[in-house]
Formats: sequence, C-alpha cells, structure tokens
Amino acid sequence: MLMTISLTFEEMWNKILACDEKYDGLFFTAVKTTKIYCRPSCKSRKPKKVNVEFYFDMNEVENAGFRACKRCQPKVEYSPNIELVRKVTTYLVNQSKENIALKDIAEYVGLSPFYLERTFKQETGETPRSYLEKVRVDKATHLLLFSDMTNLEICYEVGFQSPSNFYRVFRMQKNCSPSEYRKLNMEGDSKDELE
Ligand SMILES: [Zn+2]
Repeated sequence: MLMTISLTFEEMWNKILACDEKYDGLFFTAVKTTKIYCRPSCKSRKPKKVNVEFYFDMNEVENAGFRACKRCQPKVEYSPNIELVRKVTTYLVNQSKENIALKDIAEYVGLSPFYLERTFKQETGETPRSYLEKVRVDKATHLLLFSDMTNLEICYEVGFQSPSNFYRVFRMQKNCSPSEYRKLNMEGDSKDELE
C-alpha cells in the first residue's frame, strides 16, 4: 500500500484553490453536495470549503459514493510510470523537511538514480530536486501566510539547509523575497473571504 500524504486540510485546501497539478494523484477533493470528486488541479468552479472532504485513495472515495469529475477525470492515469511518480512525490512531500539526496529516493523506490531522475523528469517535467524545492516553497508560503514564524524559522522548518539557499530558491519561484511575499499577500484579499 502507498504511504498517505502528510498535508493538513488547510494545505490541501490551498492547493485546490491554486489548481496545483503537482499534487494530482496524491489526494482527491470530494464535494459532499454534488457527490463528485476531483484532482487538486481541477479547473471547475471551486466548492465551498465546508462541503469539501479529502480522500487519499481512489477506492475509498469511490466506495464512499462519489463519482469522478468529467472535467478533470481523476480516474484516468496517463502513463505506466504513474505509480512510480506517485511513490516518489509522496516520499518527497512527506520527507521534505529532511536532507534528501537523489540516491535516498532511488534506494527507496529500488531504481538507479539515473533511471529514476530520467523517468521522473519525463513524466513530470521536474527533477526530483526541483519538485522537492517546489514543495518546500509551497510549505514556506503557507507558513508565511498562516503562522507568525520568522523567515529563518521557516527556512529550516520546511527543509532548506541554509537561509541563502532558501532566499534564492524562493525568489526564483515567486519573483520576490519571503518578506515581500508575506506583505503582499496579507494585505487586502484575505483567503478567508472565499469560505
Ligand atoms: Zn474536476
């Protein structure tokens, strides 16, 4: 059986607001009112937060009486490597705080580092390293918006080994510094208004 992803409800909720396809297959969004379930990246109108339940297993969500969304088609698997990709992404999300090397992931899935990296890149457009950095920055943005932690605390909390690396990667992905990100997104449009 696959490991379950360790993300909080709030984190998963933010992924679906962002239609974040990096997390497709790791969990499903089930809407209690419509009895339909979706991928995190589904572009359909967002359900109300109170009507959402998250499932980690397709059989479980189907057994609970939900039907697959026609738009994002969560049942369709595009590739024979999809299980490998899920295994790697689950590992990366769950271990993102740790100092992970490519050989650790390769060992975990039982493949050579070269083959793992090539296959993962072919399937996702990311290397395991760049995927991991995106997951860490996602966690950082979440903490910037929903906690009082300082930049330095967040840097280590999400798994970066040094502040300079944290700032560099963060800026590359978000085009601003962590402090600027916090300031820009805290003012005005509070995410709570969407509830
Ligand atoms: Zn959908």
